[in-house]
Amino acid sequence: MMAAHPPRYAGGPCFVCGEPWPCFERQLSTLVEFAGRGELLVAYMGDWYRLGVEERQRRGLPPDPGMELRHLGWLDMVLPAQGEQRSGDV
Ligand SMILES: [Zn+2]
Repeated sequence: MMAAHPPRYAGGPCFVCGEPWPCFERQLSTLVEFAGRGELLVAYMGDWYRLGVEERQRRGLPPDPGMELRHLGWLDMVLPAQGEQRSGDV
């Protein structure tokens, strides 16, 4: 399956719709692709984030302050709560 809405380059805008990447369309398709595999999803978007930071530096572009939120800020909404202890269950 071809990934929908690829970035023009890591850290750059969406190739298809021109929105800052990952655009909403890509976030949705990534969610579907990684459904039930939250840890992989976090690793995947974390890789893209690191690549994006490096690529922007390589191109001499200023840091994008919204990038971390766009890549990673929405993931905790879709992941099961971390650190929930069930040991107290009766
Ligand atoms: Zn897009």
